[in-house]
Amino acid sequence: MTFEIISVGTELLLGSILNTNAQYLSRALSELGFDVYYTTAVGDNSGRLRAALEAASKRADAVITTGGLGPTEDDLTKETIAEFCNLRCVMDEKSLRRIEERFSSGHMYMPKSNMKQAELPEGCIILENDNGTAPGAVVESGGKIFIMLPGPPSEMKPMFESKVKPYLRKFSSGVIRSKTVKVFGLGESAVDEMLGDLIKSSKNPSVAPYAKPGQVELRITAKADTDDKARAMIEPVYKKICEILGDKVYGTGIDNSLEKTAVEALIKRGLSVTCAESCTGGMVAQKITSVPGASECFLGGVVTYSNSEKMRLLGVRAETLERYGAVSEQTALEMSAGARAAAGADIAVSTTGIAGPGGGTDEKPVGLVYVSVCSESCHKAIKLNLTGGRDAVRERASLHALDLIRREAT
Ligand code: AMP
Ligand code: MG
Repeated sequence: MTFEIISVGTELLLGSILNTNAQYLSRALSELGFDVYYTTAVGDNSGRLRAALEAASKRADAVITTGGLGPTEDDLTKETIAEFCNLRCVMDEKSLRRIEERFSSGHMYMPKSNMKQAELPEGCIILENDNGTAPGAVVESGGKIFIMLPGPPSEMKPMFESKVKPYLRKFSSGVIRSKTVKVFGLGESAVDEMLGDLIKSSKNPSVAPYAKPGQVELRITAKADTDDKARAMIEPVYKKICEILGDKVYGTGIDNSLEKTAVEALIKRGLSVTCAESCTGGMVAQKITSVPGASECFLGGVVTYSNSEKMRLLGVRAETLERYGAVSEQTALEMSAGARAAAGADIAVSTTGIAGPGGGTDEKPVGLVYVSVCSESCHKAIKLNLTGGRDAVRERASLHALDLIRREAT
């Protein structure tokens, strides 16, 4: 069964908001085993929405719209779809009462215009809205299905999950499951080369790499008639990837991140961490503290940008700075050791480098970064030659620092 998504709203075309509804629905539908071949965004204009409906209903078995169910003049999705299907919109008393109750329970005056939200295409399946006023609707007409959902994601998502999913189950011939494998420390082409046929000849399950800033994600996707079967198909492929890429794989799950993996590993082992940052200017600390629960392992960190602060707060020796420079292996090592001692932490990381665009020399070009880790059993620095602009260099330097933490903590 094929689907199309039509996102309705002029704000989408003006670039005022991101079309997150289309992304959400595309993912959700693919997980249910449905194909989405087209998504369209159209403004609040009846004629153009009708043209979009005509095209979509020729190509697909079902059309899902989001937006345009509001009480104002420019909200015309229901009316346009009803007209397209030769149906009238009629007042649904139950929906009207629900809307009235929503207003009165919030001690709010209900504008007359909100009554319009209870007018629905005759014979439709009504999708109650537990998080807002506009009900959604399903119209089955001419062998096609039209599903109308509200625009605000906080209303659309729960309505899709609790009302639309159960409705769609009867049409679903299978499920698509995927597992996202997170890789750090290898470029996309290196991953491609190492995995070779595992990517190239993969069909079901398929393996697809996605390059993210400084990282690579691998998506293993399987289609099967049950969830268990799909998962069972994914597992051996996942194991094979881990065998080949080894500890470059740091985790799984689309929402996983290096900082999350690092923090979870630290907490699991009861270890504390601190950081001393130069070129990353606090990005390491920012990333660590973005993880809920980071207070259980993160003691604090310092940004030591100048030589004097590196000496004052971390005890980096003047001699080291003089002889090797602030951007050097020796300075990075003394920074991490000094930070570890100052905070009394189990693990400390440090960063020092030339983020650019200026400041580079032949000997020490822009992108040269040293990242160091210091723990009870390990004290080392790695040299990085990073490419890209200032932001990219700083971002990737901080990811390397997090990678050192997660390796030390696991
Ligand atoms: P509407 O139901 O068309 O009045 O939309 C109400 C609000 O929902 C808009 O102002 C947006 O903030 C949000 N919204 C509408 N469509 C989308 C979409 N495709 N993606 C994300 N948010 C949306
Ligand atoms: Mg709108």
